[in-house]
Amino acid sequence: MARIKSILTEAKQIERAVALIQLGARLQVLESETDLSYERLLRLYKEVAGKSPSKGQLPFSTDWFMTWQPNIHASLFLNIHEYLNKVAVLDEIDTVIKAYRLYLEQTQSQGLEPMLSVTRAWRLVKFVDNGMLTMTKCRKCGGHFVTHPHEIAKHYVCGLCNPPARAGKGRASGTLQLGAPRDEAEAAQSVAH
Ligand SMILES: [Zn+2]
Repeated sequence: MARIKSILTEAKQIERAVALIQLGARLQVLESETDLSYERLLRLYKEVAGKSPSKGQLPFSTDWFMTWQPNIHASLFLNIHEYLNKVAVLDEIDTVIKAYRLYLEQTQSQGLEPMLSVTRAWRLVKFVDNGMLTMTKCRKCGGHFVTHPHEIAKHYVCGLCNPPARAGKGRASGTLQLGAPRDEAEAAQSVAH
């Protein structure tokens, strides 16, 4: 019985690893989120991605999430993630995978290039878990956006309501509505499937 259980556990881990590789995750994410050995993950990566994983450090800084457009994308992802956390009982990494797929659907439906990689999305959730980042409600639009933990909510205005001057009047991400009922309905629909 124990043996069957361990094979099932392993199958689940391989399934997760494959899903993450297909979404473009870095090898470090797989190492952190599965118990599969480095050698097996490397083989799996090459088999699924058809190439060797890229080397180098993971992004460790919270700075990227604070820049204008990345902040909007990160906020979109995190809103979906928080929503799934509330409505679905999933393991943490599965919530990230599902939320990231929904984030991709949202950006595609808006004709936007997804700026947030799955590795950064995963990092973002870790940053929120350990209190380095949080979400603050914009006092103008009421959407929730990624901020540092001590942002003063009373004064906070998001990047959609107050885009930097250089952004001009481009379409940018202006059509993304964070925390809007539509997002939630779509998220709920995908969860139901
Ligand atoms: Zn706003």
